[in-house]
Amino acid sequence: MSQIRFTAGLTIAVLLAVWTGPLTGASPGDASADTAKPLDGENGRDLALDQFRPKSMLNVAEHPPARAKFQVVDVHTHPLIRLHGSAEALHDYVRLMDQHNIAVSVSLDGGMHDAFDEHKKYLWTDYRDRFVILANIDWRGQGEADKPETWDCQRPDFGRRMAAELKRLKKEGASGLKVFKDLGLVYRNSDGSLIRVDDPRWDPIWKACGELGMPVLIHTADPVAFFLPIDRYNERWEELKRHPDWSFARPGYPTYEELVAQFIHIVERHPQTTFIGAHVASSAEDLGRVSHWLDEYPNLYVDIAARIGELGRQPYTARHFMLKYSDRVLFGTDGPRVHERLLLHWRFLETRDEYFPYAENEFPPQGFWRIYGVNLPDDVLKKVYYANASSIVPGVKEGLMSWAMNHKNAQPN
Ligand SMILES: [Zn+2]
Repeated sequence: MSQIRFTAGLTIAVLLAVWTGPLTGASPGDASADTAKPLDGENGRDLALDQFRPKSMLNVAEHPPARAKFQVVDVHTHPLIRLHGSAEALHDYVRLMDQHNIAVSVSLDGGMHDAFDEHKKYLWTDYRDRFVILANIDWRGQGEADKPETWDCQRPDFGRRMAAELKRLKKEGASGLKVFKDLGLVYRNSDGSLIRVDDPRWDPIWKACGELGMPVLIHTADPVAFFLPIDRYNERWEELKRHPDWSFARPGYPTYEELVAQFIHIVERHPQTTFIGAHVASSAEDLGRVSHWLDEYPNLYVDIAARIGELGRQPYTARHFMLKYSDRVLFGTDGPRVHERLLLHWRFLETRDEYFPYAENEFPPQGFWRIYGVNLPDDVLKKVYYANASSIVPGVKEGLMSWAMNHKNAQPN
């Protein structure tokens, strides 16, 4: 632990170094001398936070798995957004899935209307059994991007029409609905206000999903730090410095608390609908709160996509959480991810390795820390890796059965 404390102390020193002057290295009012000095830390020079590359001197045992121990369903992937419709990239990704024991990926990029058919063609022409597809609501329709009053969702019968379209999509093979965080943070009403997640106009949509047996995987809000000022107290300062547009600590945006409250309202109002809160329901920083929700709402599940960095910095709490709610937690990556990132997921879930990176990037991309493995027992691993997804996402079971038939080493479901 002394290594961690040392690093944390150093980080604060570095932050202060950054904060006492602009990036040129000069302090305000000091026009002379060392304006050209790089903030690279060389020979004790000041060091910019984005150039800090501490190499851990810890010497501890490492047990990185080469692939997942059991078959995996990745419930949170974006093959359209991330692979840009490239057939070659799709083949490469399926080869990577094979290598890592990922039997089925759930695409959250299905769209609706013609876009759904196109996406189906992209994934299912060669890989019918390897992908399950969730549709997306088309809130805008033929409306103009910057004129919210022209958007389809402003028409009075929108909810009813979307419910009808979901019914059609279900027949076309859609397994559920994915809702992007734009609902609550981007889409606006005619008067300029943000459209609320819990706006009663969308109730017919959530209700239809329940009746059709289509789970709703919904991303609401974002990491808590994105709603706080970008200042020296912000734990994601470096990330927000690189992506200032990711910050919602600006006038005109709801607070983090306000958004998660809207999300919980719809989970509460639609007990017959299964909701999967993406990214640990955007509350991985507070698993006590997520536990409370899971206790309260049996129709709520969570995925861990893009959150091993959060879960892995609280390994005792995360392990306890995943054991206690082993029937409610789903594996996801927010991928397709590269080989190195997948390896870190298996290492996090399957080992008790200490203080390793949560991403392949040279510099930690989402928080300036490292993680610890939670060493889940086999029965919990199986639930998180595939059994929970199989029981709530239509089509997954069939994919797993076909995988098992083609892989004699795979575990039967
Ligand atoms: Zn995502």
